[in-house]
Formats: sequence, C-alpha cells, structure tokens
Amino acid sequence: MDLLQKAYEAGVVGAGGAGFPTHIKLNAKVEYFIINAAECEPLLNTDKYLLSIKSEEMIKGIEEIGKILEAKHLVIAIKEKYHKEIKILKDMIKKLDSKVELFYLKNYYPAGDEQMTVYEVTGRSIPEAGIPLDVGAVVSNVGTVINVYNATFDKPVIEKYITVVGEVNEPCMIKVPVGISIKECIDQAGGTSIGDYAVIIGGPMMGTIIDDEEAIDTHIKKTDGSLIVLPKDHYIVRRKRKPLQTIINETRSACIQCRYCTDLCHRYLLGHKLRPHRVMRNVGMAEQDEEIMKEALICCECGICELYSCPMGLSPRLVNVFVKGELAKKGIRAEKGSKDTQSREMIEYRKIPTTRLMARLDIMKYSDQEIDELKEIKTEKVSIPLRQHIGKPANPIVTIGDKVTKGQLIAKVEIDEMGANIHSSIDGRVIDIKEKIVVETEDNEVIV
Ligand code: SF4
Ligand code: SF4
Repeated sequence: MDLLQKAYEAGVVGAGGAGFPTHIKLNAKVEYFIINAAECEPLLNTDKYLLSIKSEEMIKGIEEIGKILEAKHLVIAIKEKYHKEIKILKDMIKKLDSKVELFYLKNYYPAGDEQMTVYEVTGRSIPEAGIPLDVGAVVSNVGTVINVYNATFDKPVIEKYITVVGEVNEPCMIKVPVGISIKECIDQAGGTSIGDYAVIIGGPMMGTIIDDEEAIDTHIKKTDGSLIVLPKDHYIVRRKRKPLQTIINETRSACIQCRYCTDLCHRYLLGHKLRPHRVMRNVGMAEQDEEIMKEALICCECGICELYSCPMGLSPRLVNVFVKGELAKKGIRAEKGSKDTQSREMIEYRKIPTTRLMARLDIMKYSDQEIDELKEIKTEKVSIPLRQHIGKPANPIVTIGDKVTKGQLIAKVEIDEMGANIHSSIDGRVIDIKEKIVVETEDNEVIV
C-alpha cells in the first residue's frame, strides 16, 4: 500500500493551521519539500519538543514523503536560535546518511507563515490566492511529517502533544488523546493561577479565544498544539474580542491613514496587492470601491496590523474579516495573482523581531516558563469532532451504544473527497453522535 493511501487511512491532516488533508496535499510532484519548523508564534514549544524527541521519525518521514513528491530538495526551515534542536537534527541526518538539509530562519514573526517560509527557502513569492505548489513547493509542519511516518506503521492520528503555558501553576507539555476537553488539559497543568480566565487555542497572534466556562465543552482537535491561559482583561483578549461595530466606528473616526498597517504587512511585502490602509479608508469613508475591498480577500489574518503596527489601536485584520464576509455573500472570491509576483525591496527590513512583538503583546513574563517535562494524560471521556480539517466532515460509521477500541475507525470519508478519517482515541462505548462522537470508558475505568 502506498504512502498516500496509508496517510488517508490514518486520517492525517496538517497538524497546525487549517488541517488540509495530507493525502491530497502530497499528491504532487515538486522541486522543494519544506518542513516548517519555525514555530514563529511566541510561547509555542510543541514543534521544538517533537523535533528533540522524534528526530529519527522526522528525518525518515521526510525521506519517505520526498520520494512520493520526487522532490530535489528536502529542507527543514528552522529558526537559527534553536541550537539544541539543530544539533539533534544534524546528528540524526548524519546517522541516517540523509539528504535532508537545514535552512536557518531569523527570529521574527511571521517566519512560519507558509508563504514567508517558501519565500525564505526558495526566494520565490507565491502568487496572491496561490499555494506553495504554484512555485514548485509543498510545505508540511513537524507534527504532520511524524504522523505520516506513523501512518506507514498503520498508526492513526489519535494523540496530540500540547504546550500549556501562561497563567497556569505548572506550565507543561502534555500528550493527550484527541477529543479530551481543554479544561482537563488545564487541570493537568496544575490549574490556573488566576480567577476568571480566557484560553487561546493556538498562538497569541492567530489563535482562537475561548472563556473559562467554554473550556469544559471545547475539545482538542488534530490541528491543536498549544493552550495559553490569560486573564480575561489581557491586552490580546481585549483586542481580539472588540465588537465589530466598535471596530467599524473606530475605523471611521480614528484611522489617520499613516499606512503602517500596509508597510508592515508581510503579504504586501511579498508583492501582493493587499493594502490594509486602503481597505480601512474604503470602510471608514464608505467609499465602496469593490476593487479595493477585494484586496481584503488575500489577508491571511496574521494579526501584525492589529496587534503590532497600528498606532491608533485599530483592527485592520478584523475589518478584513468583515469585508471578506460581505464579499462572500455576493459570491466574490480571491483571484489568483501572477506567477511572476516579486517581493518588495523593503521585505528584508520590515520583519517583526519576536522579542519586540512579545513586549508589545505584554507576554514577556511567560517567556521563560520551563516545560521540559512531558505528562501523559489519561481520560474517561473524549468528544471527537467530525470536522477537524478543511473540507467535509467525516461520516460516522458507528452508532450509539457501540463498543470501540483505541485506534478504531469511527468516521470516514472516501479517498477522493476533501476530508479525513476519524478514529477513536480511547477504548470505550459510543454515548453520543452529533457534530462530535463522544466515547466514554466503561465502569469509569481509565483505559488510555
Ligand atoms: S496603521 Fe492604523 S491608523 Fe495607520 S492607516 Fe493603518 S489602520 Fe489607519
Ligand atoms: S492581518 Fe494585517 S498584516 Fe496580516 S496579512 Fe492581513 S492585512 Fe496583512
């Protein structure tokens, strides 16, 4: 059975970001296979941890995927400051006599944005609304490669490594079954060190935020990699939660058209026609120029303009999200740009140093939290979403009352559909099926 079939059967999706089904992504021939090991959002440590404990799986997985892609270059893009992980990878590459190369990135945000990573490694700008394939590359992240390697041994994706940091008593790395509740993950980190709290699922720039009361009913998915606990009135939480009408009103009254949001936007710097200050003017002045509004469609929502650039505390990112929604109602989508897209000259001088970003985000106090120890978490109940990926949700193939075992297929898609198979992450009995399949161990016996 070939690698793509194995990845399909194991339900492998991109382990970070939107969760693109891997068997579809890897069905290509390219010049570059790039492994995004930048982990560029502040406070995240999961990929670094995986690189240090699973370097052999990593290098072997890259070699296997490289054969399918017929890639000439197998490149791990990693920040040059990750000295320990670089040494481990170098030693493993040597030991396995592998042709995998390392490419060193500076410590800036967003070094791990897929388009920036491709630009750094290849010198090529991906066209607007394009994908790495357009410039001869496929990009996967660290967890995805390890999951593909595991799939060659018929191991499905049922576990995640999660960094838990911020306002918790014992910041840690946990290994959990997919479908465990966020609340249980936080409890395993010694609980919170504050009263009311919010949780960022993902990084501080691009992650989603939930409240403490939502932590019980929100569950870990295949795409999750970190939880950051913050006070509810923290700068990041307040900024991301600003109501839309307030944002629009502020846009009208306070945008001074300084264009810092555009000058520091990495998509603009890559050569894309995305000028957030123009979109802001359109919305603020109700100019309704649809050609300018369409620029919002290529915003990747990295958050630089909102959380770093704007001196007036405005939110071009959220305005872009609003405009995208309005255009989607009219059926207007982003159009693919030219293959000859060239980066702008200033790109080398406008990268955001991560330490400066952290200071701006008011998260420096969490930067030295030690998380070396791994905790393996057991649970009695998991709620596994049928949609953990781009595309259609998986179709349940079990019914309420069925007994299932850890690793058993419980929901599936066809191989030619955009989606991914789902497996039970614990032994137990199915007790509910809606948007999630809920599995509970029997007799309260913990069997993880
Ligand atoms: S940085 Fe802020 S004030 Fe300046 S143009 Fe952009 S949105 Fe307006
Ligand atoms: S969020 Fe802002 S900085 Fe990021 S791509 Fe969109 S417009 Fe550019």
